[in-house]
Amino acid sequence: MRGFDGDELVIASHNKGKIAEIGALLAPFGVRVVPAGALGLDEPAETENTFAGNARIKAHAAATASGLPALSDDSGLSVEALDGAPGVYTADWAETPTGRDFRMAMGKVWQRCEEINAPEPRMARFHCVLCLAWPDGHDELFEGRVEGRLVWPIRGEQGFGFDPMFQPVGESETFGEMDPARKHAMSHRADAFARLVAGCFER
Ligand code: IMP
Repeated sequence: MRGFDGDELVIASHNKGKIAEIGALLAPFGVRVVPAGALGLDEPAETENTFAGNARIKAHAAATASGLPALSDDSGLSVEALDGAPGVYTADWAETPTGRDFRMAMGKVWQRCEEINAPEPRMARFHCVLCLAWPDGHDELFEGRVEGRLVWPIRGEQGFGFDPMFQPVGESETFGEMDPARKHAMSHRADAFARLVAGCFER
């Protein structure tokens, strides 16, 4: 596995929530993180049907365009009763003509569960695949997940995306209610990060 020995890393994402979380998770390693948007990089189309495939597309596009190593995150929510949906299409479920609406998207997820009378607890998991890609085409992939249940009505204003409807197993708060540091200690992104750090940063 290739180690990361630079001091600058492009975050191949335009999602403010993800950029903030990745910045916080990388802070202890003294790496300067540059969001793709700050370099004027475009968002490539996510044309694969796996988290890993889309993570690769994003990281390689940013590494090639910037000439720097780039880290991408492809993530999403898989609901057991919905056969894993919305899964890799999680962000798409929030699309509206005027931008993304996650309150609406969470309502849609709960409504789909209602329509099929899914038994409670309605189990779900967040997935995260991180891809660290270098301008020479090499990459390393790391996967993380966290199990939980969906709640309705939604609770909490912290975090982003589907956080207010996701209550991790063994917790009484949703990710939306939790102190961010607590979420960062147990999330799918934290799980994938621990693997990334062990593989590429602690050498
Ligand atoms: P993508 O990885 O850009 O395709 O988007 C993944 C989508 O999954 C995001 O837009 C969020 O809605 C959702 N998501 C990913 N990670 C989290 C999280 O930590 N909390 C809440 N929602 C998340």
